[in-house]
Amino acid sequence: MPYLSNSRVAGTVKKYLRRAQRKIVPRRGKASLILVYHRVAEPVADPWSLCVSPKRFADQLAVLKTIADVVSLDTIVGARSDADLPSRPVAITFDDGYADVFHNAVPVLDGLKAPATMFVTTGYLDTEGEVWSDELARLVLLSDQDPLRLVEILGLPIRRNFDLQKEAEPWRAWEAPRNLRQWLYRELYDRLLNAAENRRADVLAVVRSWCGGWPHSVSPARFLTSDELIRMASNPWIQIGAHTVSHPVLAKIQREKQAQEVTSSRRSLQKLTGKEVQTFAYPYGKKNHFNTDTISAIRSAGFHCGCANYGRPVTRTTSRWALPRYQVLNWQADFFAREITRWYQD
Ligand SMILES: [Zn+2]
Repeated sequence: MPYLSNSRVAGTVKKYLRRAQRKIVPRRGKASLILVYHRVAEPVADPWSLCVSPKRFADQLAVLKTIADVVSLDTIVGARSDADLPSRPVAITFDDGYADVFHNAVPVLDGLKAPATMFVTTGYLDTEGEVWSDELARLVLLSDQDPLRLVEILGLPIRRNFDLQKEAEPWRAWEAPRNLRQWLYRELYDRLLNAAENRRADVLAVVRSWCGGWPHSVSPARFLTSDELIRMASNPWIQIGAHTVSHPVLAKIQREKQAQEVTSSRRSLQKLTGKEVQTFAYPYGKKNHFNTDTISAIRSAGFHCGCANYGRPVTRTTSRWALPRYQVLNWQADFFAREITRWYQD
């Protein structure tokens, strides 16, 4: 009998019953955590908080080794009972396939003998420059050009008044924008997320020309080359998982296209690394970003599990097709340790 549930995402009634049950009886079984990182680099123009600095990452990992039991994702997915798991199991994962993970995180993981799974977007391998979302953040948020001018050029409707003099301040893209530049970034991000490739390229060209040149103050958010991926996959502590070809919102595309994204990313990764690829992470990963067609696609492609992107511990009632993960931010070690402890009690 497999440890994790094989069901698709639980229905609403089931969810409420489970919540109510949790209040009166202790959690059924041991809790495991799955962590998700994206980049290990100094955070600059990072509206989605994807960067953890190399120093903070090393500190976080050192703490994790002392307060929890780092295991591979396979150990959690493959466990047949609580007895197969250590007392505080935690798995480490990375999404997307940024080169800084290979250069800054893998040596730390290797040094601490900590297993990790890297979910790679195959269409981003060997990309020259940056992918659209990273370029947009850099151009709009770091430029010293007038954002109002770009709003006018693109003919965007501003629905709020902003203090145009207000300086940029630390802000995360899921918070309400505090100035026009932040609003502009979020507006363009939302419009481009589901835009066709050529439309996206056209808008980015306009943004580039408004910017008046590439801001060179920050090193680009480069993706892995195929060669780096092959070297990374040969490390005994690293497993490679799939994250589609083009990083779409899977729930928004046709079933056939979803299947294509899923199967061809797996095939490319297996061909490049010579290893079986059994784990998958949904791009963006919130509940509205994948659906039952997506789950059917990853099951029939031969994957063993699907990772989502919302924080909750994994227990024996968790569906293996919607494994929750906690995103780690650029936290100091003591704050990180408190979060980990709290998450086991969630
Ligand atoms: Zn992703």
